[in-house]
Amino acid sequence: MNSTYTPSHLLCAVCGDPANEISYGVPSCSSCKSFFQSAQSPNAPPDPCIPDTCSDQCEFCRYQQCVTSGMRYPTERQLCQIVENMKL
Ligand SMILES: [Zn+2]
Ligand SMILES: [Zn+2]
Repeated sequence: MNSTYTPSHLLCAVCGDPANEISYGVPSCSSCKSFFQSAQSPNAPPDPCIPDTCSDQCEFCRYQQCVTSGMRYPTERQLCQIVENMKL
């Protein structure tokens, strides 16, 4: 049995679509990556929604899904380590 775990076998931890990379610590598709990226803006995270009016497009619920899936913004210290690793 081939247990090799390559990115092509990964599914997005947020929405279950095929993931094309590891983003913010979890396998992620490009749309979830860009969503979480944009949610980092000064206006974010989005305001909590009202469950009765919540839809599939709800940004707050999608953001919560990202967080509960394990997505984390890298700390400044981690960013430094990433840069250090790239130098090697
Ligand atoms: Zn996704
Ligand atoms: Zn919602």
